[in-house]
Amino acid sequence: MRPLVAHIDLDALRHNYQLACQCAPHSRSVAVIKANAYGHGALECARALAADASAFAVACLEEAVTLREGGITTPIILLEGIFSTDELAWVDEHRLWMAVHSAWQVEALLAFSPREPIPVWVKVDSGMHRLGFAPEDVSNVWAQLSEAPQASSLHLMSHFATADAADSRYFQQQMTRLQALATTLDAPLCLANSPATLAWPVSHGAWNRPGIMLFGSNPLETATPATDSLRPVMTLRSEIIALRDVEAGEPVGYGGRWRAPRRSRIAVVAGGYGDGYDRHAQDGTPVLVNGQHCPLVGKVSMDMFTVDVSGVADAVIGSEVVLWGRASNGAVLSIDDVARHCDTISYTLLTGVLPRVPRRYHGAFG
Ligand SMILES: *Cc1c(COP(=O)(O)O)cnc(C)c1O
Repeated sequence: MRPLVAHIDLDALRHNYQLACQCAPHSRSVAVIKANAYGHGALECARALAADASAFAVACLEEAVTLREGGITTPIILLEGIFSTDELAWVDEHRLWMAVHSAWQVEALLAFSPREPIPVWVKVDSGMHRLGFAPEDVSNVWAQLSEAPQASSLHLMSHFATADAADSRYFQQQMTRLQALATTLDAPLCLANSPATLAWPVSHGAWNRPGIMLFGSNPLETATPATDSLRPVMTLRSEIIALRDVEAGEPVGYGGRWRAPRRSRIAVVAGGYGDGYDRHAQDGTPVLVNGQHCPLVGKVSMDMFTVDVSGVADAVIGSEVVLWGRASNGAVLSIDDVARHCDTISYTLLTGVLPRVPRRYHGAFG
């Protein structure tokens, strides 16, 4: 069998969720597991967290129904609410919670008769300028929904544009608008994503919404004691399938982007952009071969890429190669390091691991 496998450590997932809770001892944490739990498998991750997590968040009804049909009974919030009016029947049927970000969603809800009132989180645009009501329109929506028999346990929800940045000015602007609204409406809040959960206690509300940190990536520009305690959940592991020596000056791979500066030992690894490994990986992107850091060299192909293993004396065909995550010898290659070398972020690498790559789960469920 092809050796490329995504190993998912469910104990690490639970550890990271507990860490998110410890970062915000006065909040409850919604585990955000949209986009197939950032590529890790939504149902498997939800089952692993079901005993601990107070709620799950997903992007859409389809993702929520997958969890319900898999036996998940924990509250689930639809972060973008409904996409069409007919989805309300499903929200009711599956006892989902919903965000409302637009007037048409409020109108649809007020024209609907759920069996039980639906928990509603009112989304305000405090500066991200993506989804949500303008701050000046929120009081109206809030008043309408407060009196509506269709809605229950109203919360005010918002999203930060720059919580990951060391420069806090725009974050503070958003926070100031939100604090004013919270006071006026006496509303329970749900504001914090992973970076805000980690770095901005002022934003912690009745609920927080950590996502990427649950999977062990540090979303901040710098490391903190908390981010140093995160554990990688996914290890993308493969093996060397061929080895050769190339002479100084010889090119390796498509276009000859990399040329050997000296006689070099080149390992070919099973894994490429056809698996979701980023084709933008530059020469020097780190890889662990037998637990030792080595540079990727040459352009990534669809099914393979090449590594300079001149420094790894024990590299042989079949040697372990870790693209990110934890090697057998305990060495860790942070997905954030890999992402920097690909000029991207961990989110795209994780959600980009394609179905072609088998997922193997480790650690006890629930
Ligand atoms: C994805 C998402 C989150 C989680 O963000 P992370 O940066 O992964 O923690 C929180 N809130 C909303 C509205 C989201 O879309």
